[in-house]
Formats: sequence, C-alpha cells, structure tokens
Amino acid sequence: MLVVSPTRRVSARLVAQARRELPKVCHLCGTPIDMLLPRNHAMSWTLDHVTPRAIDISRAEDISNLRPVHRSCNSSKGKRLHINTIKPKSSRRW
Ligand SMILES: [Zn+2]
Repeated sequence: MLVVSPTRRVSARLVAQARRELPKVCHLCGTPIDMLLPRNHAMSWTLDHVTPRAIDISRAEDISNLRPVHRSCNSSKGKRLHINTIKPKSSRRW
C-alpha cells in the first residue's frame, strides 16, 4: 500500500504511464483529446481522480482511479463527484 501525503500531486511516473496506457478520450465530455496541445491549453490532456484525494487518499496514486480529461472539463467539474463512470473495456459484456 502506498503512503501518499495529502498535498502531493500525482507522480511524474504515474502521469507518464497514464499518458501511454489510458484512452485519449475525455472522461467527462466523451470527445478525443489532442495530445499535442500545450499543457496550458483549455483542451489539453490532464488527469482526473474518479475518487477525489480528499475522500480516499490511498487511491490518489492508483492508475485505475485516474481518467484522462480536458483541462477545461476538469476545472468546470469542480468538486462534484462523478455520476457516470466509463467502465474499462475488459469488463464489457458481449
Ligand atoms: Zn472534455
């Protein structure tokens, strides 16, 4: 189990893994994310915690708790909890 300080951000290693492995689609609006946009662009790629760190700090560094989102979508969401979450492809029923 990871011990993470409440003030610590997601590690660079985990961010790199998320960029490689997670779909390049916004978890909040469902449209693709352009990975080539500058980091400060409103539609650039950023990570969102499904379970906020304030609620469960032990999941802050868990990649299964991270979803790619547009920067603007993430900031407009504020502190609200997700109602709809995208399920991983592996759990899809045929
Ligand atoms: Zn979005």
